[in-house]
Amino acid sequence: MTKITIAIDGFSSTGKSTVAKRLAKALGYVYVDSGAMYRAVTLFAMQNGFIETDCFDSDGLISQLENIEISFKFNETLGFAEVYLNGENVESNIRTLEVSQFVSLVSTVSEVREQLVKQQQGFGKDKGVVMDGRDIGTVVFPDAELKVFMTASAEKRAQRRYEELIERGDDVCYDDVLQNVQTRDRIDSTRDDSPLVMAEDAMKVDNSNMSLEEQFQVVLELSEEKIKLNQKKSDTRPL
Ligand code: C5P
Repeated sequence: MTKITIAIDGFSSTGKSTVAKRLAKALGYVYVDSGAMYRAVTLFAMQNGFIETDCFDSDGLISQLENIEISFKFNETLGFAEVYLNGENVESNIRTLEVSQFVSLVSTVSEVREQLVKQQQGFGKDKGVVMDGRDIGTVVFPDAELKVFMTASAEKRAQRRYEELIERGDDVCYDDVLQNVQTRDRIDSTRDDSPLVMAEDAMKVDNSNMSLEEQFQVVLELSEEKIKLNQKKSDTRPL
């Protein structure tokens, strides 16, 4: 069976990563959480004093980009790859509301994007990859065979994110989470470099009123159709 590239983009907390992880597992593909990479760079910036309460020293961060190494290691128990920053597992540290509050700002920096996009394209060079993010179908893999754009109301997304954070024991309030979701939507959609827009050839999935199972089934069906089509094309290609 030939392999395809699957790009899943969309707004914050639309459940992209949950669906993408499960899809990759079902297809035997590699899953890459590109948001985790931007979060890891943000954590690095916070740890190294490039982000203070109201100030972001983007030049300082840019000068240190060559010292940032991001990698993924598959965790058998969890069933997905966790993100490492300079050799340290930061999977949990990058999911805090503090990191969420700065990540969209850090993601506007073209030098950061350039470095991460190059690495993301490397992960997908042999196809058989499911990657989720904001610019995967538009910038990272503009030729992806399947592009999905996930969306849902800001309130639904904030509620889901709030429940996730509470479940892991974080002390947060719903209004702060909602505000963060709305602020990130605005920054992500209006930045100059690689703004969040739906690719022209993407399939839109509004999951405001869909269960996780329903979302997964919709995306799995779309993937299977594209894989079949891709196989047919490669079977009829002259040798
Ligand atoms: O997907 P997640 O919500 O973890 O992404 C965190 C942030 O990283 C987004 O709000 C966005 O600012 C940035 N991001 C991006 N491009 C991507 C993935 C994430 O700019 N491909």
